Amino acid sequence: AMQAESQPAPLDASKLKVTLSETLKPMPPLDDLAFGKHMSDHMMVSTYHPVTGWTDPEIKPYGPFVLDPVCSCFQYSTNLFEGMKAYIGPDGKARLFRPDMNMTRMRRSRDRVALPSFDTDELLKIIKKLVQIERRWFPNAPDHTLYVRPTIIGTRPSLGVAASDHALLYVVCGPTGPFFRVSRMLSLMAVSEHVRSWPGGTGGYKLAGNYAPTFMPQAEAAKRGYDQVLWLIGDKITEAGAMNFFIVLKRDDDDLDVYTPPDDGTILPGVTRDSVIRLLQAHGTSTTIEGIPQTVHVEERPVTLSEVAQWSADGRLLEVFTVGTAVIVASVGRIGVEGKDDIELPKHDIQMGPVARAIHKKMTNIQWGREEFEGWSVA
Ligand code: PMP
Repeated sequence: AMQAESQPAPLDASKLKVTLSETLKPMPPLDDLAFGKHMSDHMMVSTYHPVTGWTDPEIKPYGPFVLDPVCSCFQYSTNLFEGMKAYIGPDGKARLFRPDMNMTRMRRSRDRVALPSFDTDELLKIIKKLVQIERRWFPNAPDHTLYVRPTIIGTRPSLGVAASDHALLYVVCGPTGPFFRVSRMLSLMAVSEHVRSWPGGTGGYKLAGNYAPTFMPQAEAAKRGYDQVLWLIGDKITEAGAMNFFIVLKRDDDDLDVYTPPDDGTILPGVTRDSVIRLLQAHGTSTTIEGIPQTVHVEERPVTLSEVAQWSADGRLLEVFTVGTAVIVASVGRIGVEGKDDIELPKHDIQMGPVARAIHKKMTNIQWGREEFEGWSVA
């Protein structure tokens, strides 16, 4: 018993305390739901102290934190997060999409920056509770969801350059509409001068520090008229903006090849990416182009920008699309390459290529609970 008393307390969902807000925020209008603009009424918080462990988790009114100016997150970027969505199904139940994958990725990110450990199954139970409490924040409109942002920050109050043995775990959420409101195909600007990730680096983790260096190149791309950056390592494509990259090619036998860069530590292993690969493997023949069923062969394989240019010149390039929790699937219309003409992708009348469209439909059906697939949508 003595030993048990000296152990730091684990994160324990059964100890969750709920303190509801006395005043609820006014609901923002649907046309004001830009991604991340509005947060709901409540948040979940638990803090870690090296002696006492995790405090009893608490859902309480959304509000600011008071933190020491030298704490680890401000000075050494011991910050990481996850991004997931909750969807209301036709049965009125809220569902999360493959949340176990977000929890696994969060553990990997946390361990990579040596933040205090906890059982992510306990966190997931708490997240589900928060989603229930925030029920009124699900916008009652198609393609609108509740976005959930679990976060861990290091709060060790010392300038010593060392792992943070104090932490703050919190979860906030907010209503969100379609990520790209304009219904047109995306333009990407290939950037090789600035790299997002490199072999042996941390690009495969969802660390906050991976994002700050992307804002300047992103602003540069926007200034030149492109929507997002296409990230490269040398000639090799890694991902696009904060989305994973897919390319569709016509083969000589009229089947289709779908390639996506491998999970080799230089891309963020997206939940959507994994889902798209699995759906294409499972439903390889369900894509139709002009009514003709296509057999799709999906492969995780390095893709270079020169190959893309060559495939385009050869007339084999059918589609490029990007995937992620926020967009689900977005088709790409053109890719800008320094010193060369843009690579133009085939145009499609509904702003989405046939494979992207099939994937988008399947994914959204599963996410909204209209269709069951391998238990991916979790109530
Ligand atoms: N790449 C990056 C850099 C991202 O931030 C995200 C968003 N989490 C993705 C890809 C897509 O991942 P997911 O499908 O899990 O949202």
